[in-house]
Order: sequence, then structure tokens, then C-alpha cells
Amino acid sequence: MADAPYDPDNIFAKILRGEIPCHRVYEDDHTLAFMDVMPQGEGHTLVIPKAPSRGLLDADPESLGVLMARVQKVARAVKAAFQAEGLTLFQFNEPAGGQTVFHLHVHIIPRREGVPLKRHEGGMADNAVLAEHAARIRAALEGQG
Ligand code: 5GP
Repeated sequence: MADAPYDPDNIFAKILRGEIPCHRVYEDDHTLAFMDVMPQGEGHTLVIPKAPSRGLLDADPESLGVLMARVQKVARAVKAAFQAEGLTLFQFNEPAGGQTVFHLHVHIIPRREGVPLKRHEGGMADNAVLAEHAARIRAALEGQG
């Protein structure tokens, strides 16, 4: 079955256009990274390409290369900012694959031994907490030089 076309009114497209606020951690010409509002763990960050694509399969292969390089950059900062022992990355495609927002994105979640992930879309985090976490990651990115 063919996947639905890209919907320019999805939440992340609105964030990219500045119509919905986000706790931004990184931005360049191709990429935006910001805090997930319903984190599955402290420091849960999303990295998205600015180019419109619904998921992995309809993305331009060259833009995926840039996206993954930025995911690595942000992931290093997230790990440092939360003194994590490890990281879990997710990328969901289509409802059957667990996707709920239909603009390509990669989840980065800092992990510690023995601390389980919270439920996907389990509950909204406090705004002030997300702002503090975003500031921590931005500081770690600045520290990367
Ligand atoms: P998906 O299941 O599509 O991979 O995950 C979408 C993610 O986006 C979820 O983890 C959810 O918590 C997050 N999310 C949904 N709406 C918003 C929003 O308005 N702002 C932010 N920052 N994250 C959102």
C-alpha cells in the first residue's frame, strides 16, 4: 500500500515555520533539533531535516547523509549534557511503525543502566524543565567548538 503524501500542516512543519514554539537546541540550513515535549527519558531530543519528507523512505538520500551527521553531532552533546552511559535512537515510519508525526525525525534519548524508557507519548514535560535541558545541550554543543 502506498504511503500518504507529505502534509505541510504537520506539527513539525509548523515548528519549522515558527508557528508553534519549541525548545531549540541546534539549527543550521538543513537541520533543526529541539526537545521532545513528551520525553521518554530526561534529555529526549528530536532532530529533523528542514526539507519536507514524511519519513525515511521518501527522503532524498543525500539529505539523509547530512541529517545523520547532525544526529551524531547533537547525540554527542546530549550524551555529554546528561552524563549518559548510552543513547537510544528511534526513527519510526507510518502508524504501523509507531510514527505519530509525519515529518521525518530521529529521536535521541540518553540512557543509564537500570533506568527504563517511559512510554512513547506518555505525558507532557514541564516547560521550565525542557528549557533548562535545552540550555544544557546548547552549552555542550558550544563546548564541541
Ligand atoms: P513519532 O512517533 O512520530 O516518532 O514521535 C513524535 C514525537 O513528537 C513524540 O515523541 C512526541 O512526544 C513528539 N511531539 C508531538 N508533538 C510535539 C510538539 O508539538 N512539540 C514537540 N517538541 N514534540 C512533539
